[in-house]
Amino acid sequence: MTTDLPGVADRQLFDTHAHQPTSEFLHDAGGEMMQDAADRFGTDLETWDYDEMLAEYHEAGVGGVVLLGWDAETNTGNPPVPNDYVAEVRDEYPDFFVGFGSVDPLKDDCVQEAIRCVEDLDLSGFKFQQIAQGFDPSDERHDHLWSTIEDLGVPVVFHGGNSTLGACSAGGRGLKIKYGNPMLIDDVAAAHPDLDILIAHPAFPWEKEQLAICQQKGNVYMDLSGWVPKYIDDQVLHYAGTVLKDKVMFGTDYPMIDPETWLESFARDTDFDTDVQRKILFENAQEFFDR
Ligand SMILES: [Zn+2]
Repeated sequence: MTTDLPGVADRQLFDTHAHQPTSEFLHDAGGEMMQDAADRFGTDLETWDYDEMLAEYHEAGVGGVVLLGWDAETNTGNPPVPNDYVAEVRDEYPDFFVGFGSVDPLKDDCVQEAIRCVEDLDLSGFKFQQIAQGFDPSDERHDHLWSTIEDLGVPVVFHGGNSTLGACSAGGRGLKIKYGNPMLIDDVAAAHPDLDILIAHPAFPWEKEQLAICQQKGNVYMDLSGWVPKYIDDQVLHYAGTVLKDKVMFGTDYPMIDPETWLESFARDTDFDTDVQRKILFENAQEFFDR
């Protein structure tokens, strides 16, 4: 593998956060707000297929990935990455992909769709992107959805922090970053203690709030996706190596960040002990995703 970390076997690593490198995500669901994000990350929106994606991950020593659905149709007007499509891709590469569905909390059938995702499509959890989806997770009207997912017994990934979607465009394309504040997730975690929650990304500019929630709520975890380790806040890295060492996980936000880039920076720009590296790179995820 490209990144040789002591005590870590090839393909043992697990990425908690990947999107499709295909038109379904980058062009259809992403629309103009995705072009804004790509400009910020310095990437283009070129697409490639899953064989290439798998090869890239294996080359980097990563053997498993959470592949995320996307449905922000009501708020953005863009079509979803359908849950059936996520399940189809997962079925083609069942050892590699863990499929997470997405339901649009602003749609009337979101609860039924959540049930269908788990019971019919065998998806393993749900992803919410509150800024793109334009909703406040602490709003009581979504409580039935959280109870349903809690009863289904699968975890959820919530977006944490600001978003590069719509970045630098006039009005940020109408997206509101306040919905990325992790304090809104604290309410959900308090009301649903059996719901396992992973807050994706160091939640800039609310990293301190995120660390406090992860520390206080037994059912809340976080990942380091969306940020190359070199740029992650020092306090986040400090917590990842100490009080939160059982709760912080490796994630990329593929295809915006590729595994090789992330892992090279992790090896070069952080100085965790080997036991903490193992926890971040796969052990915590094995526990959280029941792998
Ligand atoms: Zn993402």
